[in-house]
Amino acid sequence: MSLEPKLHPCDNCGSEAFTVVLRGPDLLEGLPGEFQFVRCEQCGLLRQNPRLEWDQLAAYYPENYISHGGLLDKSLSRVKQIERRYGHWKRVRRIAKYKPEGTWLDVGCGSGLNLQEAQFWKRWQLFGLEPVPKMAAYVQEKLGIPVYNTTLEDFTDHDEEFDIITMWDVLEHLPYPVEALEKVSRMLKPGGILVLSTPSLESLDRGWFKDSWIGYDLPRHLFLFPRPLLKQVLSEKGLHPLAEHCLAGSHAALMLNLTFLNRKKPSRFLNWVTAHKDGYIPFRVLTFLPLWVIDQLKKGTNITLIARKR
Ligand SMILES: [Zn+2]
Repeated sequence: MSLEPKLHPCDNCGSEAFTVVLRGPDLLEGLPGEFQFVRCEQCGLLRQNPRLEWDQLAAYYPENYISHGGLLDKSLSRVKQIERRYGHWKRVRRIAKYKPEGTWLDVGCGSGLNLQEAQFWKRWQLFGLEPVPKMAAYVQEKLGIPVYNTTLEDFTDHDEEFDIITMWDVLEHLPYPVEALEKVSRMLKPGGILVLSTPSLESLDRGWFKDSWIGYDLPRHLFLFPRPLLKQVLSEKGLHPLAEHCLAGSHAALMLNLTFLNRKKPSRFLNWVTAHKDGYIPFRVLTFLPLWVIDQLKKGTNITLIARKR
């Protein structure tokens, strides 16, 4: 595989001036290469720079990549099944408060975990958008939900079609995030809502885990927005920010942070906790309350923003 990362100006403001934030390897999959995040000196957006082209990055999304698998996956333990269901239930419950019915497009739906939870509620007309053919086919066949098998960039002629668009942990993977936000804004009906989650640069664990923070996830994460900048960009695209929440995934993110740390500085304790065996449930119980408090303070690993189209 030839790895020739190229320099790119800032996707938001076009500036080429930057300072290096961190350099590191692929800690999640252990695939080859060294990558770096830089901060735009003009607007503060973090971007991977230089970076690989989209077709080169495909090699960094292996078959067993995290977001693949079913909501009620029988290969998971009972505890994991309940956790997974609970996380998606929390997200759907929040959306139901803003839009109890209508058309809903999940951009980057993966194996349809969130769509499947929404399907249980029998309230919305659901659609997925997923560039990986195998995933798109899985959702379509297993759940019977129509899935557009394409990228957001190539998805055209759907202006003002949806009441709800969700982008769960998608924005940071997109090669043109600002353009993407403009596009989803066009795809929403007036009054429609965009719900997007992305790693939070303001999270507590970013400070705790530093270079091992899951939010960087090099080389798959291409952009990380400071929260005020993200809200500003949403506003510029006609999306009025309504609310922000830490909705789900805090424990999973903590486990990944600890797994990364264990790869850098192995220890018996981290082995015990991250092996997902004996240590998992006691550790889950122990961290439940602290993580809940952190989420209430909106300092969790991921932030979910809800914005309404004007
Ligand atoms: Zn910039």
